[in-house]
Amino acid sequence: KDFRNNVKPNWCPGCGDFSVQAAIQRAAANVGLEPENLAVVSGIGCSGRISGYINSYGFHGIHGRALPIAQGVKMANRDLTVIASGGDGDGFAIGMGHTIHAIRRNVDVTYIVMDNQIYGLTKGQTSPRSAAGFKTKSTPQGSIEQPISPMEMALTAGATFVAQSFSTDLKDLTALIEAGINHKGFSLINVFSPCVTYNKVNTYDWFKENLTKLADVEGYDPNNKEQAMQTLMKHNGLVTGLIYQDTERKSYQELLSGYSETPLVNADLKLDEAHFNKLVSEFM
Ligand code: SF4
Repeated sequence: KDFRNNVKPNWCPGCGDFSVQAAIQRAAANVGLEPENLAVVSGIGCSGRISGYINSYGFHGIHGRALPIAQGVKMANRDLTVIASGGDGDGFAIGMGHTIHAIRRNVDVTYIVMDNQIYGLTKGQTSPRSAAGFKTKSTPQGSIEQPISPMEMALTAGATFVAQSFSTDLKDLTALIEAGINHKGFSLINVFSPCVTYNKVNTYDWFKENLTKLADVEGYDPNNKEQAMQTLMKHNGLVTGLIYQDTERKSYQELLSGYSETPLVNADLKLDEAHFNKLVSEFM
């Protein structure tokens, strides 16, 4: 199926987000979805535009709120595959509370973060993923804060699927998104997606020099949480691949008592018109 539409992305030439868009489109086709089976929800930022660039249902939400919307979409229509997306500022600063609670809740949503370690849309300020010492117009003498470690955070919050990729590794990234979609529960995929315009430190070459593929780590077992944490700490979080997966824990949908087999959007809610009108009148 073709998940491309005729909207031309207005990302800068060379932006890592192009590859993430292509990987989502390929993964959706590879797992056998139809465009009407997929909803892509995004927050605010350059990467937030992605919901408009994919031939599916799309919802461009507000800053940091992609996950509440995505979870609502999934709860209302469990038949939809729901992908939430946004940048590291969107998900790990203003949206961090939602990220942690979506993780522990384990709603069946795939969250793809385009991590460029800077705020691109607002023209280059320090983000929660910027390294200490990182100089931008908001930190001209270098950031005095330590960056968030999203993969370690996800493990401690109880994530059941944690993965990381690099936008140029299109094949690996596509496979991880497919696995995230197929995972029963919340899946977090952090993608190093370079901002070629404002981040002159964390460039494509920098990532190529500094990233380690978990496939090259001898004996790595993505079902071993302790090993996952130790490996992340050893490599300062700069690893790619499936970091951790728990296939035993049930998703929020599976645990929700009385959750209908029929998606809520199709359920006969037996609306009591008089009661409904009374409720509405209270807000008038
Ligand atoms: Fe991509 Fe950076 Fe340009 Fe935004 S400013 S579109 S993140 S390269």
